[in-house]
Amino acid sequence: MSRTPLIAGNWKMYKTGPEAVETAMELAKLCSDVTDVDVMIAPTYLSLPLVSTTLRDSRIKVGSQNLYFENQGAFTGEVSAEMIKAAGAEYVIIGHSERRQYFGETDLSVNKKIRAAMGSGLKPVLCIGETETDRDEEKTFSILDKQVSNGLKGLSFDELGNLVLAYEPVWAIGTGKTASVDQVDEVHQYLRSLLEKLFSNDFSDKTRILYGGSVNPDNVKELMGIKDVDGALVGGASLDADTFINIIKYRDL
Ligand code: PEP
Repeated sequence: MSRTPLIAGNWKMYKTGPEAVETAMELAKLCSDVTDVDVMIAPTYLSLPLVSTTLRDSRIKVGSQNLYFENQGAFTGEVSAEMIKAAGAEYVIIGHSERRQYFGETDLSVNKKIRAAMGSGLKPVLCIGETETDRDEEKTFSILDKQVSNGLKGLSFDELGNLVLAYEPVWAIGTGKTASVDQVDEVHQYLRSLLEKLFSNDFSDKTRILYGGSVNPDNVKELMGIKDVDGALVGGASLDADTFINIIKYRDL
């Protein structure tokens, strides 16, 4: 099965509303002739409605960087899946390593968030990845197995139809260190078989598995050439439209 590549930009806690709109406008212009790749950007919650409106007539989709799993209620500071959807988002990043590391995200909260996303029709981008210590201790596969199995526990492949998986080795995020082609190839093949084991061959075959971790215009082509890599989740290099477009148009490099 052919999977349309997805190039997604995680803007983290960067850009005010006006700055986000400006970059989104620049990107929309630069992307006007892109047809063979799906593109998504995830600005802050505050910029979601502004960026969604800006990109209304473009083919760039908008995503949120997080959500809270309850629908509504006395949960000061939180934002629900419904609210994110109503703000114009189509995707939601769940379980990013920065959320696991700094905000106590666990596989259990990830599981609840995936359910909430599915319930509202958002497409979850589930982030998983090992730390440097995990890798040194040869625990990479067991950690990934646990993050995927527990994160998706109790969900059927019908419910998970729009899932995107993002392999992001924690040691490669924002560090300038990229995983080698062999490391990415090995992990993506492993994840593809894990999805088959947990769900079905069809589900595994149609689910996009992105790589994330210091992706930039110099390494994207090589990474996208790996058989089971179906796209990239890009942090730092997605903040500037002129840089990000080179990643989106990796085929032209
Ligand atoms: C990310 O935030 O998901 C990420 C991969 O960041 P960077 O590209 O900056 O390493």
